Amino acid sequence: MVSKRMMNQTKLRKRWSSRIYSAVAIILFVATSFGPALAQEKPASQTQVVLLGTGTPLPDPERAGPCTAIVVNGTPYLVDLGTGVVRRAAAARNKSVKALEPINLKIGFITHLHSDHTLGVADVLLTPWVMGRKEPFELYGPPGTRAMAERILTAYEVDIKNRTNGPEHSNRNGYKVNAHDIKPGLVYKDQNVAVKAFAVPHGDLQAYGYRFETPDRTIVISGDTKPSEAIVENCHGCDVLVHEVYTQASFNLVSAEWKQYRLAYHTSSKELGEIATKAKPGLLILTHRANPGCDQARTEECREAGSEEQLLKEMHQFYKGKVVAGHDLDIY
Ligand SMILES: [Zn+2]
Ligand SMILES: [Zn+2]
Repeated sequence: MVSKRMMNQTKLRKRWSSRIYSAVAIILFVATSFGPALAQEKPASQTQVVLLGTGTPLPDPERAGPCTAIVVNGTPYLVDLGTGVVRRAAAARNKSVKALEPINLKIGFITHLHSDHTLGVADVLLTPWVMGRKEPFELYGPPGTRAMAERILTAYEVDIKNRTNGPEHSNRNGYKVNAHDIKPGLVYKDQNVAVKAFAVPHGDLQAYGYRFETPDRTIVISGDTKPSEAIVENCHGCDVLVHEVYTQASFNLVSAEWKQYRLAYHTSSKELGEIATKAKPGLLILTHRANPGCDQARTEECREAGSEEQLLKEMHQFYKGKVVAGHDLDIY
């Protein structure tokens, strides 16, 4: 009897332990099979940096005027509003960034009032409105931003009157702008971002760089600037630094006047290498690849000296961190 009961107990134990082993095996199988897939579905970072325009005043058909979009939880924040901004936003929407649907463009920060950074202001006020945006645009920039925005709307009053009073019956708010002349400091905050403006040296223009803090990333955008410690201080190990640059090789080809201009307004590859080495960004994105003096001369020698290939060659010489040359519609 006793031995039979013991045998039964041993059988039972064996049966249960084999069931437990099977269950553990299934759990392990499920975890290893679906775990990585689930991990892949969740993006590594929620905040996206979308390069809408990496250009300069040079009318390069491959590069729209300066504009970088920072997209957080479906909300886009634009930095600079260069030529082609709304069309590039539509292209980014088509590519995958649904948040850049033109009627979603509602907030923009201007680094300075040079025309290459502001030619898209009329576009961003009016085009999304014609497409149905109902809210006014919130525009932030250095002193003079507000006056510029008001004058742009005055310049377009025939269009605005016609579209609101005519058979289009466009709404009466979507073209409006709340323009804010800002000083350096915390200039904007909501549930997605805290935006800090800081002064950068760009000739005698009042110019700002911007630091964006989002729930998962810190992004610094230089705007146009000569080499500045303000970039080092504000990046200070930031995740992404988007910085303007010109090549040393093209500098050597231009006149003394253009050299003077570059030294007072912009940053060379060598200078940026020094800045980035101190700022230590996780990723350095090169944008606004201007080669003033050479851009106007348009000689073959200048084209080569200012090329992306040359720029990357110089950057790798002067900077050991991770660096990429930005192109329109790149997403980081
Ligand atoms: Zn510029
Ligand atoms: Zn400028």
